[in-house]
This record gives sequence, structure tokens and C-alpha cells, in this order.
Amino acid sequence: MRELLLVRYGEVFLKGQNRPFFLRKLVDHVREAVSGLGGRVWLSDGRIYVSDFTDMQACIRRVTRVFGVHSVSPAVEMEKDNFEAICEQAARMMAPLQGTFKVLARRSDKRYPLDSPAIMREAGGYILEHVPHLQVDVNHPDHEMMIEIRSHAYLSVEKIMAVGGMPMGTNGKACLLLSGGIDSPVAGFMIAKRGVEICCVHYHSFPYTSERAREKVLELARELSDYCGKIRVHVVPFTEIQMQIHEKCPENYTTLIMRRYMMRIAERIAREEGAQALITGESVGQVASQTMEALGCTDEVVGMPVFRPVIGMDKSEIIERAEQIGTFATSSLPYEDCCTIFTPKHPATHPRVELIRKAEEKLDSQTLIEAALDGTEVVELG
Ligand code: ATP
Ligand code: MG
Repeated sequence: MRELLLVRYGEVFLKGQNRPFFLRKLVDHVREAVSGLGGRVWLSDGRIYVSDFTDMQACIRRVTRVFGVHSVSPAVEMEKDNFEAICEQAARMMAPLQGTFKVLARRSDKRYPLDSPAIMREAGGYILEHVPHLQVDVNHPDHEMMIEIRSHAYLSVEKIMAVGGMPMGTNGKACLLLSGGIDSPVAGFMIAKRGVEICCVHYHSFPYTSERAREKVLELARELSDYCGKIRVHVVPFTEIQMQIHEKCPENYTTLIMRRYMMRIAERIAREEGAQALITGESVGQVASQTMEALGCTDEVVGMPVFRPVIGMDKSEIIERAEQIGTFATSSLPYEDCCTIFTPKHPATHPRVELIRKAEEKLDSQTLIEAALDGTEVVELG
């Protein structure tokens, strides 16, 4: 008899021809997640198993953050031949609990002498008799004792929901424009959850933005890497571009022009990284640069899809998500953003793209972009 973790994965996306590919990735990621905790990981019979760990709670914490994992249960593995011993173990596991319960059974070994209804009935009866403070409720039980008969018998009561999604690296790669705010880490998380590998670009306006602001963004990337694995962050010097825009372009268009340069540079970095799309944390109407027309002006300069997964979310919903994934505290630290420093008093909310194009003619775009790319520092986290 030994303790291990039963790891369940989403069934739906694992059907069809890509199943072995998805599963291999998923098992690899679970293995990476528990490395350092001594865990042994294997796949068998539609489940991933983790055993031989040094710290079960730490293992659970890490495995429930692996994209593609549906839920995790601490379980006891025992020989299946002695059904009496299985019932005794089930009763021992139920004894500390209060309230109502039911027994669920699943049998993949069809030669097992008891079928699932018989296992439920027998084990349920045994628990009732030996743990008299518990009552049965088959409709809304407080606890479910799950007995699975596979190569061995597996008994579990607790089920911890995991992050869900698809295994990392099964859906291409995208480049996240990561600011120090609340929205962009959430946006990156939402796309990464679908199995998309992430790299990040951050625009830094030293000395108008401090070293602390840069560290904050790297910390956010590190927090994302708890889910995504290694993340590379490209820290792009943006001061010169902002100064030039500030000097030469109409004030009400400076934010939008700046955003267009961000997109152009991000696309260049994305292509170098082998990414097929950009991700931003924009939400319709949140600020002047996020009106429908403004978003159109920003999109115009990009030749790849731009994903904006929080586009239809309210700020309060985005904050809730940030709290769930664990980036909110870092995002809330005070900092200066390069966007807030040169903010115009009256930004255009109904911009005219031909005026923007005209204003940009005053800038030596090619040279500015190349210089920014040349000065870019790459930091790897996770
Ligand atoms: P966030 O919560 O991410 O700060 P925001 O509501 O402050 O978003 P903006 O400042 O208008 O919105 O930025 C919109 C999006 O542009 C951000 O979500 C992010 O994807 C990108 N962005 C803004 N500033 C930067 C920056 N300094 N570096 C990289 N990306 C940025
Ligand atoms: Mg911001």
C-alpha cells in the first residue's frame, strides 16, 4: 500500500489523432512540475500517476498549475484482490470526515469478481457500519469515496480542481506585450492556457521609468512562468521613440502613435522568436487608446493576428482573474509606466488614421525601430 496522486486530464481535446502528441507533452510537463520533489510520473489507463514524492502538498500545488490537468486526487494504491482490506482502508479514510457520503466505483478490470454497483454497495455498507457518525446521501453527498479497480485498487476522497486548458506547446507560440499593469498578465495567461507558448516584450523608458518598474515586469513574467515554464522577456528601450513622438507629432495622437510603434517592434520580435501572433491586455473602451477606432489604428500596422482575450471583460472581472492566477499583488505595486509619462491631456478617441500616417512621416521609423531592437535586452525566467 502506498500514497500517490491521481491526475485527471480533460477528455474532450484528447480525442482523435493528436492524442499521443498531447499526452506526451502533458506527461512531460507534469514531470517538469514535480522535478525537485523526487516525484515519479507515469501514464497508465487514462490517468497520470505521481508517486515517490517528498512533499505531497507541494506536488499538488505544482501539478494543479499544469495546463491540461483537470483535477488531482491524493489516493491510496493497494492490492485489489483482498476486497475486505479495500473496505477497511475506505473506512479508515472516511473516519475523520463529518456529514454525508456516497461511494463511487469504476472498474477497468472487467474480470474483477465484483462489478461497480456491487463495489459501491458493499463498500458503502461497510463504511456505514464501521463509521456510524456518517450518513449516506446519494444525491448531494458532502464526500465521495472513489474506488477504482485498475492494475491495482485506488481509493480517493479529495478532488482538487486544476487549471484546465491544453498542454503547453500544443498550439504554437505568441508574443505578449507585457506592461506592469493588471490586464496584460491576465491576457497572457488566458492564451497560454490554451497550450500556446509565450514570450514577452516590455517597453522601458529609462530614466523616465525606473529600474523598479522593470523589476516589477520581470516578476510578473516569473509569476506567469509558474504555469508556462521558461519565458523569455525582451526589454526594449523606448525612450528615444517616445521623445521623438512627443517632439514631432500632434499631442492628441501621441499615445496612439506610440502604441503603433509598440506593435511594429513586437511583431519583429515575434517573428524572430517564431511566434505567430501578438497578445495585448486591451479591453474595449477602457481608455482612449482602446476605443474601436483606436484599436483599428493599432491593428493597421501589424501583419499577424493580435489576440486580446480580455477585450470583453470589465476591469472588475479582470481583477478577479488576476487574483485567481496570482499576479494581482505584483500588478498593484506602484510604478511608472512609459504610457503614463507622456500622456496627452486630450487623447483622440475618434482618431483619423490618415492624420496618424501623416504625423509618422516626420519620424525616421526605420532607424528608430532598428536602434530599439539593437538595444533590446533578453532576460530568461522560470
Ligand atoms: P495593463 O493592465 O496591461 O497595464 P492598460 O489598461 O494599462 O493595460 P494600456 O496602458 O493602454 O492599457 O496598454 C494596453 C496594452 O498595451 C497592455 O495591456 C499591454 O499589452 C500593452 N502595453 C502597454 N504598455 C506596455 C509596455 N510598457 N510594455 C509592453 N506592453 C505594453
Ligand atoms: Mg498599462
